[in-house]
Amino acid sequence: MTAKRNHEELRESVRRVCEKFPNEYWRDLDAKREYPEEWVRAMTDSKHLAALIPKEYGGLGLDLSAACAIMEEANRSGANANPAHAQMYVMGTVLRHGSEEQKREYLPKISGGELRLQAFGVTEPEAGTETTAITTFAERRGEKYIVNGRKIYISRVQYSDLMVLLARTTPIEEVEKRSLGLSVFIVDLRKIKGENLDVKRRRVMMNNFTNELEFRNVEVPAGNRIGEEGRGLSYILDGMNAERILIAAECVGDGRFFLDRAVSRANEREVFGRRIGRNQGVQFPIARAYANLEAANLMVEKAASLFDEGHSCGAEANMAKMLAADASWECGNVAMQTLGGYGVDAEYDVERKFRETRLYQVAPISTNLILSYIGERVLGMPRSF
Ligand SMILES: Cc1cc2nc3c(=O)[nH]c(=O)nc-3n(C[C@H](O)[C@H](O)[C@H](O)COP(=O)(O)OP(=O)(O)OC[C@H]3O[C@@H](n4cnc5c(N)ncnc54)[C@H](O)[C@@H]3O)c2cc1C
Repeated sequence: MTAKRNHEELRESVRRVCEKFPNEYWRDLDAKREYPEEWVRAMTDSKHLAALIPKEYGGLGLDLSAACAIMEEANRSGANANPAHAQMYVMGTVLRHGSEEQKREYLPKISGGELRLQAFGVTEPEAGTETTAITTFAERRGEKYIVNGRKIYISRVQYSDLMVLLARTTPIEEVEKRSLGLSVFIVDLRKIKGENLDVKRRRVMMNNFTNELEFRNVEVPAGNRIGEEGRGLSYILDGMNAERILIAAECVGDGRFFLDRAVSRANEREVFGRRIGRNQGVQFPIARAYANLEAANLMVEKAASLFDEGHSCGAEANMAKMLAADASWECGNVAMQTLGGYGVDAEYDVERKFRETRLYQVAPISTNLILSYIGERVLGMPRSF
């Protein structure tokens, strides 16, 4: 592996920030279900969260491989990058499809920490996996759109100033293809939260700030639409490869966290007068999980390199997400088993990370949908839906 791809200096700089936020910090927030405000602030001040923003807009101007190294290191330290990762993956939609005016207005403020773009509104109660079924509607009236509708599981809305929103702008009955008639907007949340936008937190199994939303006649200036009206889904899909690769890198970080814990426990804990790691029944599952994690990491690196070189990477991004989510889940199970009773004890942090990493079997895309992509789009088998 080349030094560039390993990003050792960058990784070290992430470790320096995260060292100030030990596992006690995350454990305490998890118990209280509170947002890691100080950690997000520190990662913003260190510019890590502006990694993908070009230098001319105040960011670091790094590529996706570098952003993956940041997310992996954050999760490896015991942090959960989830409260801040949307800023990384939503960025692509703004960077690739936003107007120069939009970039100049928002990106320098996001880079400097004056504004947060942490919310991404797609999922609805009746439209999760089937995105084209969304019904939240943005009706054009002169120089504005009026948005009405409901969303669910939209994370970090309370802690974000801006949201990238997907809404219908042409009713589904009137479009030639279901994927058309959807548009993307930058919604300024600051004035509408609690007014025309109801935000109700959903309690989920990990410390995640996800919400049910109701838009009631929310006004969005026409100038906040990203790209052309009706082509929004293609812009969102375009950004999804980056999202999948970044989340795969977070899973690799989780996997490394679990293996660090499992190996040190196996080396230290003595039962029947010998270290438990001497038993192959303990050692082999850890070794297998490590091999699977390294293999998944190679796919993450391949997907990120293809993305950075401008090649198509849909298959690799999907495979990276699935393999890394499976590998981190395997590492989590192995760590839990190796720690015995201490695995489920909150003070040892494995149970917290175990809950956190489980999400990635489901979101932002579930494993079944990845398998169907590989089966149909890569291998050419019949379509099932
Ligand atoms: C904590 C959390 C945070 C989230 N944050 C956000 C966010 O910030 N923004 C946002 O827009 N969304 C967010 N989501 C939503 C997430 O992306 C969706 O939950 C996910 O896309 C799955 O949709 P669903 O839950 O409606 O499942 P469904 O679409 O109801 O699917 C349920 C199950 O059926 C399977 N399935 C469906 N159709 C098929 C098929 N044809 N073949 C095989 N299997 C099938 C799926 O794979 C899945 O396992 C979040 C979700 C959670 C839980």
